[in-house]
Amino acid sequence: MSKGGWSCPHCISDVCDILKKACDPGDKGCVLYGKALFSSPESPSNDAFERRMERKMKRLLEGKNPEGD
Ligand code: SF4
Repeated sequence: MSKGGWSCPHCISDVCDILKKACDPGDKGCVLYGKALFSSPESPSNDAFERRMERKMKRLLEGKNPEGD
């Protein structure tokens, strides 16, 4: 993946060296999974992202470190 000035270091000739298949940003196992919202509503990352944000918000409201240490 190389869009918007960011290139994934795991993308070698459009193949993900982690998942051993064509690069599919936001797929389960991708470094972006749960870390970004994608415009495609089918991206598995989106639900994971929402759950992550909910956990962070809950920790913040409890007065804890939202990053979870
Ligand atoms: S699927 Fe994700 S981790 Fe793999 S090459 Fe693409 S952007 Fe990088």
